Amino acid sequence: MFATLRVQAAVINGTTEEDWPEVVAFCREHAWAIPSFGLHPWFVGQRSPGWQGRLAAILDEHPTAAIGEVGVDRWIEGHDLGDQLEALADEWALAAEKNRPVTVHCLRAWGALMDFARAAPALPRGFLLHAYGGPREMTDEWIERGAYFSFPPYFLHERKAAQRDVFAHLPLDRLLIETDAPSMWPPPERNPRPILDDLGEPANHPANLDVALAGLAEVRGMPMDELAAVTNENFARLFGAPPTDQRGA
Ligand SMILES: [Zn+2]
Repeated sequence: MFATLRVQAAVINGTTEEDWPEVVAFCREHAWAIPSFGLHPWFVGQRSPGWQGRLAAILDEHPTAAIGEVGVDRWIEGHDLGDQLEALADEWALAAEKNRPVTVHCLRAWGALMDFARAAPALPRGFLLHAYGGPREMTDEWIERGAYFSFPPYFLHERKAAQRDVFAHLPLDRLLIETDAPSMWPPPERNPRPILDDLGEPANHPANLDVALAGLAEVRGMPMDELAAVTNENFARLFGAPPTDQRGA
């Protein structure tokens, strides 16, 4: 499927200690997949004692792996921002120590995340603010700190005009595309391969990466091929390429 879409590489994010082995297994089977390990802010409360050591060990076992999906979220019911920030500090420190890129999730906590980043060690390798939903006024400082920004098909919904405007003004060399599957599905008129989840609700899927590319190309007023070359280059700079011994599937 990804070959048909001409996808060369993608990052597969873990969200809990339990799913890290699944990320490893998936990336072993798929040459284009780069593993990433972290605790999603929705699940940080479930972490077990000593998780930092396990994260460090799995990163050492996978030298090309990234850290993610990590971050802060004040949208989810019952959130504990202090606890999320505590886990994020440990993950960020590991990224600095091991020089790994980071995929960051942030919902309704942009001020808190910026305060955190100002006090945290710099990440020279850079980091990705996925499905960036923050204000345009903040992007200059994020860029200075090394941020990349990924555009999901979800931002093609009519009501997401402000976010499309943010992406219209970001520097080309910081743009990436994503799906956030199974969440954040595209609007019905931009969903050429609709699927439903087990509950009969619309679901997103990784093949919608081409919907994100087409959408961002419109936002930027650029031919798709030209934008694909830019996002490929940005991806390689931030995440590297999958190791050659993983290829050939
Ligand atoms: Zn997320």
